[in-house]
Amino acid sequence: MQITAAVSRSPDSPFTLESVELDEPRPDEVLVRVHATGLCHTDLTSKSRIPGPAVLGHEGAGVVETVGARVTGIAPGDHVLLSYRSCGECAQCRGGHRSYCSRSPLLNSSGGRADGTATLSQNGIRLFGSFFGQSSFAQYALAAEDNVVVVDPSVDLIVAAPLGCGFQTGAGAVLNVLSPEPNSRLVVFGAGGVGLAAVMAAKVVGVEAIVVVDPVASRRDKAVELGASQAVDPTVEDVATVVRGATHALDTTALPDVVAMALSALESRGMLVVVGMGARHVTIDVTDLLLNGKMIRGCIEGDANPSEFIPELLALHAQGRFPMEAIVRRYDAGDIETAVADSRSGETIKPVLVW
Ligand code: ZN
Repeated sequence: MQITAAVSRSPDSPFTLESVELDEPRPDEVLVRVHATGLCHTDLTSKSRIPGPAVLGHEGAGVVETVGARVTGIAPGDHVLLSYRSCGECAQCRGGHRSYCSRSPLLNSSGGRADGTATLSQNGIRLFGSFFGQSSFAQYALAAEDNVVVVDPSVDLIVAAPLGCGFQTGAGAVLNVLSPEPNSRLVVFGAGGVGLAAVMAAKVVGVEAIVVVDPVASRRDKAVELGASQAVDPTVEDVATVVRGATHALDTTALPDVVAMALSALESRGMLVVVGMGARHVTIDVTDLLLNGKMIRGCIEGDANPSEFIPELLALHAQGRFPMEAIVRRYDAGDIETAVADSRSGETIKPVLVW
């Protein structure tokens, strides 16, 4: 079918709305009419790395149009959120850690289906598609049973779209990996969508000392509004001194100096979790690590199984305990470049495109 999608023609070109061809759904696929898609830094990082024309977007939310014959538990008309794909059969998936699925690269970032076929094309030319099993910067997306989460029709799809990646990542890093306690001292580096989802999650488990570090004043204000006990401006304060003694730390910045400083600021046996994508090499003090029993670990997609974790976050949201609407701003899909600019400047924390 012909659909409109936001196409990235090259790393440096702007997104442009273009008519593209979406393949017919296979028996194991779900065709979703996309209502909203969150814009995530991973979209922009991927855009900068994919040379040819591509359709990105991996925080889709919409309504099921049709389902393939082999799909169970999902029906046309269902309201759904789209997340990342996983095979469900490898050791990581069977162990409950689907974000570390051994087939993840093939299923989420190979540019097509796992069998190599394309889902998107334009005038017979293949586009990079199936991004996170969706490529939802488009009016319609082909997803699979394993990355579709059915939600109640009362859920606001614009507000909830980022649960598929960004909000799940921040909240999961806290609830599933860092596991702070009320008397813990948590430091969150970066008050973007991921960092602020982490703050909301820390508040849910009653953490009293939540320190947020971000150079943008409006983001620091938002962090305090959402429950941070202290917001630090790294351009004027000596962050290393202010955050010393943290029992738990989360890095969303992917800045090597910040990661190293976060590790050095930890209390003995403290844990640093890194979720920011981009930092390749960081110099760490191994003696400090050893003598103080510190831990540093990575975490992708909050180590969460979307079909279980997203409904939990929606339940918290319904109780007013995960107020994610406070950081979402909607944009018409045609204004995607404005959304990108506002995201980069920090003016908007979490842009969501509406199709
Ligand atoms: Zn797997």
